[in-house]
Amino acid sequence: MSTKRDYYEILGVSKTATPEEIKKAYRKTAIQFHPDKNPGNKEAEDKFKEAAEAYEILSDADKRARYDRFGHAGANGGGGYGGGHNMNMEDIFSQFGDIFGGGSPFDSFFGGGGSGGGRRQRKGSNLRIKLKLTLDEIATGVEKKIKVNRLVRAEGVTFKTCTTCNGTGQIKKVVNTMLGQMVSATTCSTCDGSGQILDKRPAGVDNSGLVSKEEILSVKIPAGVGEGMQLAMSGKGNEAPGGVAGDLLILIEEQEDRQLKRDGNNLIYELYITVVDAALGTSVEVPSVGGKVKIKIEPGTQSGKILRLRGKGLKDVNGYETGDQLIYVNVWIPKKLTADEKAKLESLRGAANFQPHPDASDKGFFERMKEYFS
Ligand SMILES: [Zn+2]
Repeated sequence: MSTKRDYYEILGVSKTATPEEIKKAYRKTAIQFHPDKNPGNKEAEDKFKEAAEAYEILSDADKRARYDRFGHAGANGGGGYGGGHNMNMEDIFSQFGDIFGGGSPFDSFFGGGGSGGGRRQRKGSNLRIKLKLTLDEIATGVEKKIKVNRLVRAEGVTFKTCTTCNGTGQIKKVVNTMLGQMVSATTCSTCDGSGQILDKRPAGVDNSGLVSKEEILSVKIPAGVGEGMQLAMSGKGNEAPGGVAGDLLILIEEQEDRQLKRDGNNLIYELYITVVDAALGTSVEVPSVGGKVKIKIEPGTQSGKILRLRGKGLKDVNGYETGDQLIYVNVWIPKKLTADEKAKLESLRGAANFQPHPDASDKGFFERMKEYFS
């Protein structure tokens, strides 16, 4: 480890180099020492790996800052970047997607994943469906049968090795670039990189060898999913000729419940009680996801009070916690009164017990919430 070279020195940049300069320097170094350009040259390979490691640290603002302060020990500590860790070729080539991607003249050079490149596994397209669920279904989790039209390999279709690329999925040729001769690998256009082409196909099947087929799939929806969540069923999308199938993506939609409103994993129920029940106390039934629940209203319950039914909310989709059902108590004030009712209330107007508590006016919603959560 003590023999490790300075990352800036490896890439030939100053300590104040911009990310763009670092990227450029790495690109240059990587091309210079690329194994395809230096077959069998161990020293070049080591330099190539060294540059990749330097780039991994210096291209990441956090890792670079740690390296600047603590040197190699800093970059190696905490960042999950082990001191003895050597990047393998696959790691290095996976970096290229990001730095050589899009319009670089070296695209084709790195296109096939360099010396480690091979046949590209083609993936079929994803299918997307929306699935509407009721609150009860969300509360318990549910198994749903869904109908999808998938592209699947038609019966009687066979594939054979692509004769253009001999099944490698790539066409290699030597090209002249400003840095000298290099082997360029491009995706085979005959098989589109899959290495396989259609051999036999029955009448009515097109060149893709795929046909649309209606399938009924059974999907297990876990409890606690929410609006906008997406579940993926791997391999249940469209198949690809000579490749792997795409995924089925299921977008969850919540059917609005008429009585219970969702707030994360909590459920909210707005309860209305009469002035009389609020003053004298009563017991009422409220809806909840498991069925009706009887709750007690204490005498003297204020409008705006929040009652909690612990654990009567929704299960967290990612954990073991379960939300609560919150009951917002509203006292209903009558809008129409008979003469008799009016007279009864009028007789109570001045009664001492009917006067608001001096503190009542400053006990607003936020105070009540604070009380609930404390
Ligand atoms: Zn081919």
